[in-house]
Formats: sequence, structure tokens, C-alpha cells
Amino acid sequence: MEILNSPWPNPALSSLDVPVPALNLVSTSGEFAMEPGSIQRMYICGITPYDATHLGHAATYLTFDLINRYQRLAGGEMKFVENITDIDEPLLERAARDSTDWQSLAQRETDLFAADMTALRIFAPEWFVPATQTMDLVALAITRMHENGYVYKVDNDLYFRVSGFLDELPYPLEECLAIFAERGGDPERIGKEHPLDPVLWIANRNDEPGWESVHGFGRPGWHIECAVISLRYLVGEDFRARVTERATLIDLQGGGRDLIFPHHYMSAVQVKAITGQEFARGYVHTGFIGLDGEKMSKSKGNLVFVSKLLEAGIDPVVIRFALLTDHYSQDRMWSDERLRVATEEVVRIRAALSRNEVAPTTQVVATIVEALGRNLDTPAALQALTDWVEATESGVTGGSSGEIARALDSALGLAF
Ligand code: ZN
Repeated sequence: MEILNSPWPNPALSSLDVPVPALNLVSTSGEFAMEPGSIQRMYICGITPYDATHLGHAATYLTFDLINRYQRLAGGEMKFVENITDIDEPLLERAARDSTDWQSLAQRETDLFAADMTALRIFAPEWFVPATQTMDLVALAITRMHENGYVYKVDNDLYFRVSGFLDELPYPLEECLAIFAERGGDPERIGKEHPLDPVLWIANRNDEPGWESVHGFGRPGWHIECAVISLRYLVGEDFRARVTERATLIDLQGGGRDLIFPHHYMSAVQVKAITGQEFARGYVHTGFIGLDGEKMSKSKGNLVFVSKLLEAGIDPVVIRFALLTDHYSQDRMWSDERLRVATEEVVRIRAALSRNEVAPTTQVVATIVEALGRNLDTPAALQALTDWVEATESGVTGGSSGEIARALDSALGLAF
């Protein structure tokens, strides 16, 4: 896999005729704002390419796409980087299960992901970086952390010393230990200084893939990948010196809520161990998507894939609309009923937009933008749209369907 610059085509964005206020977001570390006209740096944790793209992924990338669109509409610049975890335990396990080569599996699933993102009109990252292309950076970062006193060995594996950062844990220690064990950690391993210490470099075992490095032949742990990719591609950090006068190195790290711990915590403290500086101003997390009342998960085998919906002839605008009907931070349920309702809504909106006379639009556009500015309140934005559709249906006139169609496309990515 290669490092890709703008991996899929970006949708068009037309500017709005209404003011775009600052974007206020709720982060796990409190509220923060993106000022209009400013440069923002956003790092989004990408897929492990063996099972792309289910609706949970789609909802997550859609959320950060709204932030990206909003900041651009506010006259600002969004530097956006995303990784691909193309070497990890689950990918190797799936490749072994399916008797396929792990690299072809990763390439196939990444291509599928790019096609799904294109169909869903999601802006591409400026840099889309596979973990396997970052081995030199990982080695250098580990060396730097070692110099700073954060690295120790267990057998031939290298571990990160987390003890200096325990007061920053997002949940009580006991809870963190339980989650760590569930999500790829090894709290029980003999020889570790603290059960929460994550592995940085895994010495090669059996026939697993590995890379030569100054730390031996092996492969990186999970969290270090996002630490180094964000530093290299968003900050230009070479792991040798302080590089910025900004209070934090980047503005936003984002992903699904299951990444709060250990992944986002570990990548942030590792960045601090490398640079001595705070990582992100905000950490924004999306809720889960369930199916018919149950949590959607690989283990339950009830994942709904975007590509399957598209194959079944579902209009991507319907998928996008259905995912926007609830707030991104809420856990949401997917169902055939939800898809049916969204399909009907989209038909109704299209009918309203195609009328010669429509209800006034400038205020509706302003209301939609203001709603998005309040921590991406998409239910309020869609309510304003529904009110406009009803007013149009009842014969109110004075607006421009072109104005609202352009705003829906630009701000919400809904191309009706
Ligand atoms: Zn990550």
C-alpha cells in the first residue's frame, strides 16, 4: 500500500450567502471552537482494512466530513490526515481465516472504502497514510521516547511507560484495565511495569510480517502509528525538537467512541512523550450504530455494509440523510424502517425543490448553518429543512430552490 495524497475526488463546495459563525464542538476534554477563517488540523483514525465500510464507519467519517465542510464554508482551511491500519492482529487473523494474503486483503478493502467514501460524498483526507509506510518514523519516535525515559523491554518487545500519565485516564483505573484487556491490550503480561503499559514494538514471532529497525525485526503496536502519522503529516514534526508555539500540536483527533480508551488516550500521551507538547485541543467521538435494537458488531455478525446498500440500489443521499437524522454523539439504531422513512423524506424534499415557487430560503439556510455550528446539531438542521418543505407544499413562496439546494449540498453533503 502507498501513501496517498487526496485518495479520492472531492465533491464540489459552493460558498453560502449567509454568515458562518464559529463551529463549537463538544470534546471529551470540554468544549472548543473552530474560528471562521482559521487553519485547523484534524486527524481521523482510519480503518483496519479487513471489513470496510459498515454503517458505523460511515457515520463516523460523515461526522468529520461535516466539520471539514463547515470549516471550509467558514472561509478556513482544514488540514486533514487519516491513517490506514494495514498491519494489525485482526487483519492478519482475517487473512489467515480466509486463506488470503494480508496485503491483498488490505488493498481490496481500502479500495472498497475509497469507493464508499466517494459515493457518500465525503471529502478525502489530504494524506491517507498506511501504517506499513511509517516504519522509519515509528522507529525514530521510539528512539526519541526511549531517550526521554518512556520505553522498556519485556523479552524482545518494547513497552511504553504510562505511569506518568495516569492522572489523565478518561475513566477510573479499574474500568480502564477492563477496557484495555478487551481492546487489544495485555494487562496480564508478566514483566510489565504497569498493566496498562501498551506495546510499542512487537518483536517478530512465527511467520508474521515484520520490518527491520534499530529496535530489532518486528512491527509496531497500534497507538504509535497514529502518534507518528499525525506528527509527521499534520505538524511536520521530525521527532527531534519542539516545532510549534501553538498550545497544542493539532486541533482535533476524532473517531468512534470506542477509541476514547485506550487508543486516543495512548496516542496523545505518546505524542507528549515524544515532543513534550500537548497533542490535540479537542477529541471528538461518535456514537455507535446498532441494527434492529442490537449493537452492530463484528462478533454478532450483524454489520450493515455501505457497499451492500449501494449494490441493492439504495441512493447514497438516502444513506447520508438517514445517518444525519440523529445527533452524531448518540447511539443510533439502523433498520429497514429507517431506510424506508429516509427514502420517503428524500423523495418529498426533491419534489419541493423541483417546484417553480418555493418558500423563502435565506433564513432556512442561516438556521441550518447555525444548527451545525452548535456541535453539529443535524436533527435541528433537518427540522428546519422539513419546516421549509411543509411551507413550500402549502404554497408559501418567495425563496430560491437553487439557494437551498446549494446549501444542503455544501453544508450537509446532501446532493438532491
Ligand atoms: Zn488512530
